[in-house]
Amino acid sequence: MYTLVDLANLIFPDIKLTIADLEKKYPARNLKEGAMVTRFAPSPTGFLHTGSLFTSLISYRFAKQSDGVFYIRLEDTDTKREIEGSGADLVKQLAYFGIKPDEGYISDAEEIGSYGPYKQSQRADIYKVVIKYLIEIGRAYPCFCTADDLAALRQYQEANKIIPGYYGEYAKCRKLTVDEAMAKIKAGEPYIIRFKSLGDHNNKIKVHDEIKGDLELTENDQDIVILKSDGLPTYHFAHLVDDHFMHTTHITRGEEWLSSLPIHIELFKAAGFPLPKYAHLPVIMKEENGNRRKLSKRKDPEAAVSYFIAEGYPTYAVIEYLLTLANSNYEMWREQNLDKPFTDFKLSFNKMSLDGALFDIEKIANIAKERLALKKASEVEAELKAWAKIYDKNFYEKIIADEAYITAILNIDREKAKPRKDYAKYSDVYPLIKFFYNDQFAKLVEAGYEWNPEKSKEEIKDILSYYKANYNLAADENSWFNDLKTICPNFGYAENTKDYKKNKEAYKGHVGDIAEFLRVAMTTKKNSPNLFAIMQILGKDEVIRRLDLAIASLEA
Ligand code: GLU
Repeated sequence: MYTLVDLANLIFPDIKLTIADLEKKYPARNLKEGAMVTRFAPSPTGFLHTGSLFTSLISYRFAKQSDGVFYIRLEDTDTKREIEGSGADLVKQLAYFGIKPDEGYISDAEEIGSYGPYKQSQRADIYKVVIKYLIEIGRAYPCFCTADDLAALRQYQEANKIIPGYYGEYAKCRKLTVDEAMAKIKAGEPYIIRFKSLGDHNNKIKVHDEIKGDLELTENDQDIVILKSDGLPTYHFAHLVDDHFMHTTHITRGEEWLSSLPIHIELFKAAGFPLPKYAHLPVIMKEENGNRRKLSKRKDPEAAVSYFIAEGYPTYAVIEYLLTLANSNYEMWREQNLDKPFTDFKLSFNKMSLDGALFDIEKIANIAKERLALKKASEVEAELKAWAKIYDKNFYEKIIADEAYITAILNIDREKAKPRKDYAKYSDVYPLIKFFYNDQFAKLVEAGYEWNPEKSKEEIKDILSYYKANYNLAADENSWFNDLKTICPNFGYAENTKDYKKNKEAYKGHVGDIAEFLRVAMTTKKNSPNLFAIMQILGKDEVIRRLDLAIASLEA
């Protein structure tokens, strides 16, 4: 008669350490009362999803604001779905948004901290210590069922309308005696390891979620697989072991995991580990034709964080937007504390939205416009330069060729009481200001000036010629505009729009039309940033050259 200990030794002859040894190796963290240890635990299966940026941001902020620890753990036990190199990319993208771990996986060649390894595929022996213990106490067992056995079980359960799964009376291998199981192993039969659940799906268990409060969930009774045939554990089991030995205090993860919570609770109890706190975060949803659905990798470009990076949304705008999704009081706080960094805001679980957070890209754009408008031109220039270096090489060359020039351009209507809110993202800048660069201006001219079709070319030409002959760039915008007004009577234009509106028949146009002619001459467009500032930045010679070009084109 063999014992469970014999079975455990037969399965794991090389595992000599015990749980007590691991507890010594990974002692409790020496943190102050209330400090939270949180983690981001991505699987390296592709790109960083916007939902993952959201969950990692929240985990990160909770750790930071409590003087705790935020770490990254790579959950790479599903080797079939792994995409080479994506783990390190995820870490880099998080860092781009300022989310840098205190500890954990950085890349396949680098990790920080003494609670590692932080890559699950390198922790096989640690999991095996705990599985060995579970076998010894009769809470885990080898299962020899083949894929065909499991398919037949599923068919039988479906046909008889029985709750599907490997549990209770349907868990064939849990009924094997130790001797029978050992004989099969010795005979070389392949097997995996299952957890032995003691639950019953007719029971409810009470659980507490930091966000959702007290919940009643159906008790687990499934004998889930904990060790696969490739020697690696499943997510459920790996997270139990890792969060225990890495001393996670709060498991902040997507709501999609809530339904697995009863399994996790039973696993923690079986292993004799104290249960950490759980906070299931809302999933980011999108509204489409009046219906809500999850932000989808396939349908929505904004589901990938790389989209925001490539488009050049300032990271702080994306982060602040995600904070507005996270806590209902964030926006109010922001309005009242415009000059403070967002890190001063204290996140709380009880202000977290309970249903799916609705994603709104327009709102990111608005936040970005507000935040960018409040920055100094030199700060925007530095951000723009760093972005263009990777995502718009042509613009980057222009930026570095004359940084004072682009800074002056960016300073148009900035650093004043009501700054202009032109840009939501760095990629918005160049299309709006490229006319400042002569090679681009030439292309715009080739594409055509946006002259007002209601005015004769002759008249526009005469006005521009007159303006050129009398050109004198005034020192300030008011005197410049007054100068512009003095041209009006010569051409039968009203000096202000009010006069014009009162008596349209008496005039050919008004001072605004003249400003528009000039604007089109300088930029080819009817809309542009502040015209006076544009002319100042272009400088007298270039203003005259552009007037000449416009006049020549009107003659053609
Ligand atoms: N690897 C899991 C995922 O990518 C992590 C879930 C968790 O945070 O525990 O969804």
